[in-house]
Amino acid sequence: MQHDYDLLIVGGGLAGNCLALALKDSGLNIAIIEANTRERQYDSPAGDRALALAAGTVKMLEALNIWQGVSQLATAIKDIHISDQGHFGKVRLSAQKENVDALGYVITARDIETHVAQLVDAAAIEQLCPARLTGLMAGNDAVNVSLKRGDEALSVSAKLLVGADGGHSSVRNLLEIPQHISDYGQTALVTTVKSSLLHKNVAFERFTASGPLALLPVDDDQCAIVWTRGSEDAEALMFGSEADFLAELQHCFGYRLGALSLVAPRRAFPLSLIRAEKMIAHRTVAIGNAVHQLHPVAGQGFNLGLRDVVQLAEMIIKQHQADRDIGDADFLSAYAKVRQKDHDRTIGFTNSVVRIFSNDWLPVAAARNIGLTLLDHIPAAKTLLTRHAMGLAGRLPRLGNRR
Ligand SMILES: Cc1cc2nc3c(=O)[nH]c(=O)nc-3n(C[C@H](O)[C@H](O)[C@H](O)COP(=O)(O)OP(=O)(O)OC[C@H]3O[C@@H](n4cnc5c(N)ncnc54)[C@H](O)[C@@H]3O)c2cc1C
Repeated sequence: MQHDYDLLIVGGGLAGNCLALALKDSGLNIAIIEANTRERQYDSPAGDRALALAAGTVKMLEALNIWQGVSQLATAIKDIHISDQGHFGKVRLSAQKENVDALGYVITARDIETHVAQLVDAAAIEQLCPARLTGLMAGNDAVNVSLKRGDEALSVSAKLLVGADGGHSSVRNLLEIPQHISDYGQTALVTTVKSSLLHKNVAFERFTASGPLALLPVDDDQCAIVWTRGSEDAEALMFGSEADFLAELQHCFGYRLGALSLVAPRRAFPLSLIRAEKMIAHRTVAIGNAVHQLHPVAGQGFNLGLRDVVQLAEMIIKQHQADRDIGDADFLSAYAKVRQKDHDRTIGFTNSVVRIFSNDWLPVAAARNIGLTLLDHIPAAKTLLTRHAMGLAGRLPRLGNRR
């Protein structure tokens, strides 16, 4: 049967574009369908959010020849300082103690998204853009897709469709894949501050009764803020005066970086966990936020999404080289089986952090502080936690282990 493409990727965000780059030399005929123009993608205020990338993620981005073009825009995390406001427990993780250059890196989402999009352009990967997926039907031999590009309606077919279209995935909705949505009733406030004392490449994660607060190093004297607050609180902080915002920030964080001043606009991201009940359907697979949109408290979203990308790319290349159908149901089931454990573990870990650290009930607060203190004094446990923070615990797709 003739197909227009071997592979159609819906969504040209980080997950979709990284997958296209991972497969660019595979010999497969690939197209990306992206709803937004490049300009709209670049100008989106959401691009201001900082991403903490685990060392394991950076290894995979290097293997995909992506990291080399943005490494100069990223800031290394040499230490991670975890503390609980008003309690004694704290943990400090250190790259030096673990004998590595960095525990991870911080980069603005816009910087890495722009670079990845430019690499896709340079690789001459076909893009149907701006075009929106409006319908999809999977038959025995092909998946048939309807698109709207301006006033024009298009239909295209492929052997395999990948849904990389984010938390509100149309692919997931059109296939009626059941999803679990938990509204946390929280909002992440994102901005950048300048500090009067240098951060020395330390990332701070501070748990407070009103929500977790991360200060991530982005420049010698600047930190990206990711601050989770209850939705009403967040609205007041978002639209109140800068002075009120800074006073509350300083109250929650303290003065370990001296005085803080705002150097970027405030952005708000309402938070919910969205998890698809399954990641595959007939000739279709969902990756990245389309299958798991997480709370940012543990900075795991894209780190997890890239592991989907790399695993899927490796398996597709093997399947294609063996002259087998890349949309085959058993093949897709094998992919889902490999990825399930990582999804369960990462989502479970993120939810535990949200639950344990959003709870100021005395026994829970005491237990977590004892836990933090013990962790700080047990080198083996600290190494394990550090490997988790670096994204190196558990099984990494082979691509991530090449270097
Ligand atoms: C405040 C905040 C902080 C975060 N911090 C971290 C962090 O520190 N570390 C980390 O790893 N992750 C972090 N994340 C998560 C990370 O940003 C996401 O996991 C990642 O960007 C998701 O990429 P994606 O490509 O899966 O989805 P998206 O970026 O949502 O991309 C989806 C794409 O699909 C397109 N699309 C949607 N619908 C259609 C359609 N019908 N037709 C065609 N195209 C369509 C969209 O235009 C978009 O370009 C954070 C998130 C937030 C909100």
